[in-house]
Amino acid sequence: MFVASLIERKRDGKPLTADEWSELVTEYTAGRVPDYQVSALLMAVLWRGMESSELDAFTQALLDSGDRLDFEDFLKPRVDKHSTGGVGDKVSVLLVPVVAACGIAVPMMAGRGLGHTGGTIDKLESIPGFRTGLTLDEAGRQLRSLGCAMLRQTSEITPADGKLYALRDVTATVESIPLIAASIMSKKLAEGLTGLVLDVKTGSGAFLPGPDQALELARTMIRLGDRHGCPTVALLTAMDRPLGRALGNALEIEECILALQGRGPADLMAVSLALGDEMLLLGGVARNRADARRAQEEAITSGAALEMFGRMVEAQGGDRRIVDDPSLLPQARAVEIYRAPEAGVVSQVEPRQIGRAIVELGGGRRTLDDVIDHSVGFVITIKPGDTVSEGEPIASVFARDKAGIDAAFRVLSHAITIGGKLESLPLISHRVTAKGVEVLP
Ligand code: URA
Repeated sequence: MFVASLIERKRDGKPLTADEWSELVTEYTAGRVPDYQVSALLMAVLWRGMESSELDAFTQALLDSGDRLDFEDFLKPRVDKHSTGGVGDKVSVLLVPVVAACGIAVPMMAGRGLGHTGGTIDKLESIPGFRTGLTLDEAGRQLRSLGCAMLRQTSEITPADGKLYALRDVTATVESIPLIAASIMSKKLAEGLTGLVLDVKTGSGAFLPGPDQALELARTMIRLGDRHGCPTVALLTAMDRPLGRALGNALEIEECILALQGRGPADLMAVSLALGDEMLLLGGVARNRADARRAQEEAITSGAALEMFGRMVEAQGGDRRIVDDPSLLPQARAVEIYRAPEAGVVSQVEPRQIGRAIVELGGGRRTLDDVIDHSVGFVITIKPGDTVSEGEPIASVFARDKAGIDAAFRVLSHAITIGGKLESLPLISHRVTAKGVEVLP
């Protein structure tokens, strides 16, 4: 195949045919098209977009690049959730055991960190021994015996998205509605789901910051879900500040353990429970929203969700003792407290700068081969709207060394604004279904 002519056509704003997309994905997955040509094509898509027939063909090609989970004889509802990516977005790690404890099977295929955002797989891999590279067979068996499994793409499952995802991460080609939609939906459609809930982020820390782009992304994914017989619902949630307090792989796992013990930060719990309500409703295990909420709260207060998390960690080869002793998670060598430089009301905690700082500290990848340091990151205890006094501790920085601490302090001094205009997005602003868009109160 003559890839340069495809790049040229896309560059000039003309569509590729379904067969061309399909062949290109097959050839790339097989290693017969180099990364540099696909990078150029991805950049052309980012600028020129895709027609809906191209998006259908591209998504189908990603899906067909591997096998799917097969649940022919499986009676339980299978519902998953996926986020479009954020900073401090650890919802999946918390939500999977909660929802599984409520009777929904969750076969979650997740991604690594992408751009300035963290990835569920990197977070889980901070647990000593935790295996995310399950085979389809292993994932299917674990789902039947336990009710949940969290895995990454392998050569068996959507390998094309695995390669493209890693390439987009280091070529500034993430921020594209068709590329995000195809990436997410190919993974989710390979899971053999009976329903899907999407957390579409909006605000400065989201890949697509504007609410109109977020709504278009939600509608695009819902349409792809519908075409494949997978009922899909999306919530738009705020990413103009980080979610929760802990930011960085191991730190976020620790925060999830606290949340499963009923001690999670309010914003994290609100987003997680709202997405969980939708999952329980889609799965038909709750009659209404109030029932769904009660079931999730009961799963947390009874300890059933924490037990489910511990069993999943153990089933996937991880050290279950982290549930009772999070100090067994990787620990940063250098830790320092950051104090408010002045008194006043916090008007901004800018997530994109903080996400990039985590990558710089070693918690994310700058090139395809980077090995990440799971221990680094931030715990930021203030939110926009909070009043602070001068010198008050407002964050902790976790780094490899003093140079990392100094660099992170510089980022915090820009990312956290005290005084100035307070503008923050509603935490959960819209609900989108195939029927339309609901603005939430
Ligand atoms: N999550 C994904 O799986 N893919 C994207 O492109 C963005 C977020």
